[in-house]
Amino acid sequence: MDIAEQMNVLVELQTVDSSIDRYRDKQEKLPAQLASARERVRHAEEALQQAKDRVKEEEMQRKRLELEVDGIRDEMDRLNKQIMQVKTNKEYQALLKEIEDHKRKIFLREDDILEIMENIEDLQAQVKRSERELDQASKDLKDQSASIQEELRQVDLAVSQDLDRRENIAARVDKQILARYERVRAGKGGIGVAMANIDEAICTMCHMDIRPQLLMELKQGNKVVCCESCNRILFARDAS
Ligand SMILES: [Zn+2]
Repeated sequence: MDIAEQMNVLVELQTVDSSIDRYRDKQEKLPAQLASARERVRHAEEALQQAKDRVKEEEMQRKRLELEVDGIRDEMDRLNKQIMQVKTNKEYQALLKEIEDHKRKIFLREDDILEIMENIEDLQAQVKRSERELDQASKDLKDQSASIQEELRQVDLAVSQDLDRRENIAARVDKQILARYERVRAGKGGIGVAMANIDEAICTMCHMDIRPQLLMELKQGNKVVCCESCNRILFARDAS
């Protein structure tokens, strides 16, 4: 196999290697896509728990005020009985005032209770909304997990097919050229070959000039020529 043919096989190898690199990148990044869907579920769970906790707090407060009102009513009953038995007007007026104070207290507490009941109604609506959001977020997560798992399965399959292809192609490349390609590729973002633009005498990967001497060697096709700027193995499309 002459150099030009070797270069053709090397370009084929580069194509498969780039494909494998893209699939490997997907294998790494796809699982991370689930993170935001998981985060949404976590937020929804938190919001629901908070809303439920607040309902509980408000209900405890309501219970506390209701007990307080019961206590004041009992006290009022006692005062109402007591007022029947007083002997002096002064005592009567004092008790009357006390009863009025109790009435006012009850009135204020009942006002608070009404406000709390309105809060509870709002919060229960919030609980319902949070439950719906959690349902939706959980469903979306499940759907996304399934689709990403499916995509990963396909990527795994494609990678193993590409690896088989790579093995066959690499077997056809001269050992020394292959080693050189691997070395350059490792240091140059996965790209070990570069097409030479013969007319303009530049490397199409790094866009630097190619010396006339190298250009001539490249045209002759008797030896492997590398770009002096980026070190990639040059190939000329014309030669293929
Ligand atoms: Zn170059």
